[in-house]
Amino acid sequence: KKQRDRIFGGANLELVKPEDAQYSFKDIAGIDQVKEEITEIVQFLRDPNRFLSLGARSPAGVLMVGAPGTGKTLLAKAVAGESGVPFFSIAGTEFMEMFVGVGASRVRDIFKQARDNAPCILFIDEFDGVGQSRSYGGGGGDENVHTINQLLTEMDGFEDNTGIVVMAATNRPTALDAALTRPGRFDRIVHMPLPNVDGRVGILKVHARGKKMDPDLDYQKIARATAGFTGAELMNLMNQSAILAVRQQQTRISEAQVFEALENIQKDKMGGRGGAGGNGEADVVPPHQRRSIAVYEAARALIGYITPEFDEVQRVSVCPAGSNNGFTYFLPREETLESRVVTKGYMESKMVVALAGRSAERLVLGDANISTVGASQLQTANLIAREMIFRCGFSSRLGPVSMMDEEESYLGDNGHAIADISTEIAVIAFQEVEELVEAAEAKAYYGLARNYEALIALTEALIQRQSLTGEELRAVLEEHHVHRYANDSV
Ligand code: ADP
Repeated sequence: KKQRDRIFGGANLELVKPEDAQYSFKDIAGIDQVKEEITEIVQFLRDPNRFLSLGARSPAGVLMVGAPGTGKTLLAKAVAGESGVPFFSIAGTEFMEMFVGVGASRVRDIFKQARDNAPCILFIDEFDGVGQSRSYGGGGGDENVHTINQLLTEMDGFEDNTGIVVMAATNRPTALDAALTRPGRFDRIVHMPLPNVDGRVGILKVHARGKKMDPDLDYQKIARATAGFTGAELMNLMNQSAILAVRQQQTRISEAQVFEALENIQKDKMGGRGGAGGNGEADVVPPHQRRSIAVYEAARALIGYITPEFDEVQRVSVCPAGSNNGFTYFLPREETLESRVVTKGYMESKMVVALAGRSAERLVLGDANISTVGASQLQTANLIAREMIFRCGFSSRLGPVSMMDEEESYLGDNGHAIADISTEIAVIAFQEVEELVEAAEAKAYYGLARNYEALIALTEALIQRQSLTGEELRAVLEEHHVHRYANDSV
């Protein structure tokens, strides 16, 4: 016991024995190529002696790069499970936080433990935390250097690490200390992608296992509606659907629950625009506010509908399930799934839809009644316009010029860096951004004004029925002879 504490307790090293290793490649979907890239490692771990007797070298490790929730931890566990070897895990930041004063010796301890259990997987999460500690220095600068050097020494295999495969994970490749990724330290750097539509079908099916799913459930449809979701988010979707089904006393999880769960998740993602998000209790929304929410959503749905190159409206709701906001839900057209080449026209149409709600408030409710509800959509429109001008060279005055520095692609925060440009150019660029947003707003306003009657009819339908499907929406709009935009204009 004491021995265990010394080794595991202090170092917080988790050990999963092979017999408890419940994960295998069957539990991870949507990354077939990555699996293929690391089959060699699995083969090695299953029978190291065969490899070594042939003169092959023990693989050193794999660095997995990808956004949070893309399955890096799961992959490491699955490799351990597939290979039937123990799994150790530690976070890179712990090297700093917990090991002050004993860093280097802890690293030695960890690798010794791993060596005693080899062959095994040593998973190091937040690997960039290790690199950072050196550059950020701070109080324990020397200590950091020792710790990292020890880690590097261990990884270089000077101490005979035969059979220890390090699997490290990071979502910030640019924050990695260059020394950590020098050739030889990792055999492979694998990229963990966001799953594409087929990948999402696979992941949804993994998480449908053991749940009572409606046999008619159309996974392809759900996958189409979840572009940009990570594996972890898809898992969450399936769990939320199950919870809803239980709450609604259903015996099976049907499409209705999945889409309801999806709607809730999307709302949370968008920060529940319209103030305090619903909590399932019947919030009483005052009638005038109800109307303004309905106008706002009707406008988004209408503009989405009349924009031929934009996504299809799947559903529009106001105040669903007692919440006090609304939601319009778009489904990418099959041919414009995430693998699409995004066009200038698509970006413009996205801006027009983003600005529709605001424009409708101005048109229907009057200038003084434009609310703060549309602020986040306004931001969306501005970000798109900036991307068009600064990154894509869509500026008519500046020409085909990109003004971006190398971007940090895994930060997930749109953290684009703008290159050094003169003030003069910057002024023009921002004028161009403003013009794009203004043009999009004008187009939204025009589209709504031209279809005023249909807009009001849709608003009334929403107030009465709360939620309309894409089909019902179309019926209302076509009944009022809605006019579509021509295909090529802003
Ligand atoms: P990361 O380590 O990249 O942040 P995790 O491996 O912790 O992501 O993912 C969290 C959970 O999300 C996993 O335990 C799993 O249930 C689910 N998940 C993520 N990616 C996948 C995938 N590709 N296939 C199936 N499930 C996944």
